Amino acid sequence: MAELNQKQNLKAADEKYLWHSMKPYNPTATMVVEKAKGAWITDSDGNEYLDAMAGLWCVNVGYGRTELAEAAYEQLKELAYFPLTQSHKPAIELGEKLNEMLGDEYVIFFSNSGSEANEVAFKIARQYHQQRGENGRYKFISRYRAYHGNSMGALAATGQAQRKYKYEPLAPGFIHVPPPDSYRRPESAQVPAELASVQDIDQAMTWELSETVAAVIMEPIITGGGVLVPPENYMKGIKDACEKHGALLIVDEVICGFGRTGKPFGFQHYGVQPDIVTMAKGITSAYLPLSATAVKREIYEAFKGTEEYEYLRHVNTFGGSPASCALALKNLEIMEKEQLFERSEELGNQMRADFSTLLQNNPYVGDIRGKGMLIGIELVKDKSTKEPLDVSLVNQVMAVCKQKGLIIGKNGATVAGFNNVLTLSPPLSIEVDDITFIIDTLKNALNDLEK
Ligand code: PMP
Repeated sequence: MAELNQKQNLKAADEKYLWHSMKPYNPTATMVVEKAKGAWITDSDGNEYLDAMAGLWCVNVGYGRTELAEAAYEQLKELAYFPLTQSHKPAIELGEKLNEMLGDEYVIFFSNSGSEANEVAFKIARQYHQQRGENGRYKFISRYRAYHGNSMGALAATGQAQRKYKYEPLAPGFIHVPPPDSYRRPESAQVPAELASVQDIDQAMTWELSETVAAVIMEPIITGGGVLVPPENYMKGIKDACEKHGALLIVDEVICGFGRTGKPFGFQHYGVQPDIVTMAKGITSAYLPLSATAVKREIYEAFKGTEEYEYLRHVNTFGGSPASCALALKNLEIMEKEQLFERSEELGNQMRADFSTLLQNNPYVGDIRGKGMLIGIELVKDKSTKEPLDVSLVNQVMAVCKQKGLIIGKNGATVAGFNNVLTLSPPLSIEVDDITFIIDTLKNALNDLEK
């Protein structure tokens, strides 16, 4: 009885004191999560759910890894804090490790969130051009449907109007072009899709005047905008266009990084070495906050000068805290030891192939796409018109899954505000039996929709 009261009190106190991202719009009651292990979470009523979103696409090594807690604990005892205006060993070691993974010489600036990593990238890009005497380069090109964060610059880079319009005016200087979308914007007779989407960016830089453009920012695969896998040559085309116009290429690896798509970083599928790479989430598997902006050494070198005003004016209190860095190092060690990148590629691609086979006759499944353990299933009313499925039905699929113990995501922004793409982004360490559970549960929920 006392325990029951305690649980009810907890929910009542939550209602009273906390404002969550979705509150007060959350269509289902808020769940108070108590503990988690592997891919499974347990709520305060004792219900267990397989978390096929790994939180917000981030718990890459799965829940309940005590080695990670221990790594943070040991570091907190030794050195709990010192600002990175100076330095400490965990940050230095993590910088070295990230360089090894990035495959080229980068200098790393640590922050606290994906949004902040992108803000730092924008500041560096603008100042870099100024350092070289190109003072007019301030614009950023990004794509519609992309998400780059919640702060006024990162939100300005975001290409989803429904997330932005209540908070405008945002930071100026952000230009949007259409994303590559092989489902809704397939190859035309005149221009192959990959060329059309690259041309959009190339032309935007021309029409905006090259000498006003600082950088292009892109995710390797647009994730939150509906898992849009670009054509093979797309990123290379954009890198070439950036070089032609003298702009930098910023690649946002906040979700795609750390094995989500089957390689350490998403850009590594596409034979391109970005000028700036931003990362967060999987860097610690979200056990502690940490993000990073990795910058090609030659960009960093442009900041070297004798005048005081020439250094990067960005300070943060918590960025690169010793415990976060020590934990990140342990997290990356686990990923390598357990070969989680390879596992993501193999099992993720197999999962996608299984869905394609099992759902090919379902009238609502318009498209199944992804890379590694990043999967999007686009739901439509009618396969020939591709009209998005009503949100109430998308919600119904999610609710049925949840009743059966499976949490999946919903994204898309296909039409502003319309989230008709189901998303899966489970821990990379997920057990094979758990994958079977995901496939069966979701397949049944979608087939029930048919009835
Ligand atoms: N970029 C991308 C691609 C993201 O998906 C997100 C968060 N979902 C961010 C940036 C912002 O990260 P954060 O929430 O840590 O600020």
